[in-house]
Amino acid sequence: PLSPALTRAASLIREIPDYPEPGILFRDITPLLADAEALRVTTEALMEPFLGTFDVVAGIEARGFILAGAAAISAGVGLVPIRKAGKLPRPAASVDYALEYGTATIEMHDDLPRGTRMLLIDDVLATGGTLAAGRHLVETLGHTVAGVSVLFEIEGLGGREIVGDLHTVFHS
Ligand code: AMP
Repeated sequence: PLSPALTRAASLIREIPDYPEPGILFRDITPLLADAEALRVTTEALMEPFLGTFDVVAGIEARGFILAGAAAISAGVGLVPIRKAGKLPRPAASVDYALEYGTATIEMHDDLPRGTRMLLIDDVLATGGTLAAGRHLVETLGHTVAGVSVLFEIEGLGGREIVGDLHTVFHS
């Protein structure tokens, strides 16, 4: 059961039908981000099972960056951005993954020692392709995935199955 503060935070996630395409129910977290208490309690809930087990937070572009930044400051660790292809000047590795239509690529720099324990954070889990690719990317570079944590899981799309161990704060 969610705490009253988390229940209130969940109510601040806005549902936008048919965005960015017909048939997609977009989960807009910006009202939650704009609320100081909701941002604080959800940031804490994202990290809570993993405290003490990670050296750095890795955020997935773009909304994952926001939550990962808040989490990193709160946990007293650094932040590694996992970016869409072509955005980083010195990517150390790339991983391609399937989208509903077409493919995408994510990349990461590698400025940390092998074996760095990384907590992967994103805002929404849908098919799981993005976070599965993020996990693969971190492992390709010889690091350890301390955990994968998502603010909102859309159930019924098989995301949890392909990502593996997963912590979610809210779900559909
Ligand atoms: P997936 O790889 O299918 O799990 O998609 C996850 C990525 O797409 C995340 O980075 C989300 O921010 C975004 N995403 C997918 N579906 C939605 C949705 N219904 N609402 C908001 N964001 C979504």
